[in-house]
Amino acid sequence: MHATDALNEADRLMTVCNSCRYCEGLCAVFPAMELRRTFTAGDLNYLANLCHSCGACFDDCQFAPPHAFAVNVPQTLASVRAESYRAYAWPRALAGAFDRNGLVIAVVAALSVAAFILGFAALNDPAVLLGAHSGPGAFYRLMPHNAMAALFGAAFLYAIVAMAMGLRAFLRDAGTPGRAAPTGVSLWQAVRDAGRLRYLDGGGVGCVNADERPTDRRRLFHHLTFYGFLLCFAATSVATLYHYLLGRVAPYPWYDVPVLLGSAGGLGLMVGTAGLLAAKWRRRPELRDDARFGMDAAFLAMLFLTAATGMALLVLRATPAMGVLLALHLGVVFALFITMPYGKFVHGLYRFAALVRYAGELGRI
Ligand code: SF4
Ligand code: SF4
Repeated sequence: MHATDALNEADRLMTVCNSCRYCEGLCAVFPAMELRRTFTAGDLNYLANLCHSCGACFDDCQFAPPHAFAVNVPQTLASVRAESYRAYAWPRALAGAFDRNGLVIAVVAALSVAAFILGFAALNDPAVLLGAHSGPGAFYRLMPHNAMAALFGAAFLYAIVAMAMGLRAFLRDAGTPGRAAPTGVSLWQAVRDAGRLRYLDGGGVGCVNADERPTDRRRLFHHLTFYGFLLCFAATSVATLYHYLLGRVAPYPWYDVPVLLGSAGGLGLMVGTAGLLAAKWRRRPELRDDARFGMDAAFLAMLFLTAATGMALLVLRATPAMGVLLALHLGVVFALFITMPYGKFVHGLYRFAALVRYAGELGRI
């Protein structure tokens, strides 16, 4: 017996699938499953985080409902995966609160920080808040750079520590048994598999979305979101180096590296997250884990809003709207940071760790 119904159901399904093995060519889940006869909770969390929820094994399954075996691997592994975010979250007490009220907490946090920054600026000098500013240092007339760096540095540091603790718990439970260190070869294979979302193609035909015709759109939106996020992170990193190493103060001209990286990343994030939200909304109910729909949607919505407010700020930064837009953008970024360790963001970390284990287990190089 496992601790949750989802783990018990996943155990039952993996036992059925292990006898059938019809789907072994579809993705990494089935070859990994075939290496074991019994499944610990850690094994099931490992398998769940290998699954991309493409839906192919549901449409291919002769034992899917209404068959008495009622095999629904994508939905069950989605539930286990969602539970794993909560099971490994740090600190545990916060995971439950975000789980139940993720979108509300994210929106309230974003608006609270935005209101704080606006109130701070309005009390200091309303003319600064509502005026048009341009040239180096324009952003810091609203909030001093050091105050901004302290507030967001602390939130970012918290997110990093919380996610590192979550990953540590995942590795202890669902990582390589015996905790052998991953080899360079398995790490490189995992980087390659994660970088091209190798197992999100439904075995080569695409992902099952709104209907039974598979397409590769979900993989495209995942790529746009993932690489858009990396480009935005690169833009922020270059801007930080500019500030501290070269003494060059934001905002930068449109042709400068941070703006070019941020613009490309922002557009990718907006299109990618909007596409994923639409795909999630239209997904066939039998493939969805509705219990976690809110938190997943909250994460995508916060990513979308981060990109959208950033792009609006870029376009309107020389107008009187800059103050309000900057406050909103910073509020959304703050909310994104504090919710990251408790939602779908960690799936990237756990999936990568699962891919490293998979590459090591199968010695596939
Ligand atoms: S999902 Fe169905 S068809 Fe595929 S391996 Fe499992 S039982 Fe067999
Ligand atoms: S990745 Fe696709 S084929 Fe593999 S277990 Fe998940 S839903 Fe099934």
